[in-house]
Amino acid sequence: MESFSGPVTTIRDLTPDVRQIDLTLLAPPDIHFAPGQFISFEVDREGSLTPATRPYSIASPPSLSKQIQLVFNRVPGGPGSSYLFSLQEGFDTTFKGPVGSFTLRDSARDILFVATGTASHRYAQCCGRVNAGPKSDSSAG
Ligand SMILES: Cc1cc2nc3c(=O)[nH]c(=O)nc-3n(C[C@H](O)[C@H](O)[C@H](O)COP(=O)(O)OP(=O)(O)OC[C@H]3O[C@@H](n4cnc5c(N)ncnc54)[C@H](O)[C@@H]3O)c2cc1C
Repeated sequence: MESFSGPVTTIRDLTPDVRQIDLTLLAPPDIHFAPGQFISFEVDREGSLTPATRPYSIASPPSLSKQIQLVFNRVPGGPGSSYLFSLQEGFDTTFKGPVGSFTLRDSARDILFVATGTASHRYAQCCGRVNAGPKSDSSAG
């Protein structure tokens, strides 16, 4: 798993408790992933010396390799969502990834996606790949 760093470049509130942010990659400057994969932050948690690891799905398409978009909801008191909601434009971030094998495989079979809340963004990427046709995205695994 690779480590990445880069600042928050855009923040958009989609609802009062769902936020979208863009992270522009600095080091390394590119990321290659398959729709459905995720990245992880290590965040401080109150009363513990060890950080908590929190995964977040990449909501942007693999074609945008120089930045990633995340969509997350507020979980009161949760260290992961509190960290993400504390970020302001220009703040630096570090994260690891991309990981996850729950990705779309090439198949001629009908596909039914079921998702609630912020998870629907992750499936939007898979749907984009279905519409584009099999193996249209060389970075997809
Ligand atoms: C593979 C993967 C991908 C994920 N991708 C995303 C993503 O794209 N966007 C996103 O927002 N989250 C995503 N999550 C969930 C995310 O990793 C955290 O679990 C979530 O942000 C809560 O973390 P926390 O530290 O704030 O709260 P925690 O300390 O984990 O939870 C605090 C309390 O809130 C409850 N809780 C946990 N999650 C939620 C929730 N979503 N809504 C309401 N209550 C909750 C817990 O049961 C607990 O009681 C993903 C999880 C996995 C495993």
